[in-house]
Amino acid sequence: MRQQSANLATISQLQALNRQAAVSITLDVGAVQLAPWDLSFNAVTAADPMLLAYLQMLEQELRKLPLDIIQASGLEVILLVRDLAVAGQARLAVPDYVHEVLLYDISHKDMDFNRHVFHHEFYHMLEEQLYGSAYYADPLWQQLNPDSFQYGDGGANARASFNTLLSHPAPGFVNRYAMAGIEEDKAELWAILWTDTSWRQSQGMLQHDAVLRNKFKLLLQQLSCVSADIINSVQHRLKDIALNVNHCPTDTSASFKPRSPEYEHSLSE
Ligand SMILES: [Zn+2]
Repeated sequence: MRQQSANLATISQLQALNRQAAVSITLDVGAVQLAPWDLSFNAVTAADPMLLAYLQMLEQELRKLPLDIIQASGLEVILLVRDLAVAGQARLAVPDYVHEVLLYDISHKDMDFNRHVFHHEFYHMLEEQLYGSAYYADPLWQQLNPDSFQYGDGGANARASFNTLLSHPAPGFVNRYAMAGIEEDKAELWAILWTDTSWRQSQGMLQHDAVLRNKFKLLLQQLSCVSADIINSVQHRLKDIALNVNHCPTDTSASFKPRSPEYEHSLSE
């Protein structure tokens, strides 16, 4: 009996979330078309003990994002699963840019970390939509790094958990994961912006590190060229670190390369 009412609460939370959100949130793996990657996962049911808390987290985090940013990302479906892996390597999230689907594994117990991962992965979708690649070598961003700096070989090869600690390992980088690739550098800053716990942990570095501040500013300026609401919706954060960001200066939007209809992502990246 108790299990039944728990299932009903979960199902009604899922339905409520789908009524409010600009994207579809589903457990139905059969209804979602996915890229033929070496993906593996198990379906989640309404009886899953982790699901209700995960849905509540998703509702809170989705509500923070301006509608025009969600629309700019092209994201259509969020598919919740367990035991998510790519080529046998466990993942908490996988973006499918081809079908505009984000897959999330709901089994991780640290909900603050799940929040951070939600926003991090969402940024990869957004970047892919704006620049035609989630791995765009943004020259405006690159020039903010010290001359001698070179990114590592990508997030997939920097997965040890210490890499994601917000340790400020060098000026301009919030953690080692951000040093693994330009795409991870941007996605980490974006995630910090929205996740309260990550924000608290990074506020000190964002107040004092000029490179990080410039990256933060560039990120928001670029996004303000596609979102009228983005700067307003993070005004409380900007106040915390006394940073002024002006709306879409002409030199920041020049690098946008909107995705062409025939564009297709290589499925092996
Ligand atoms: Zn990433």
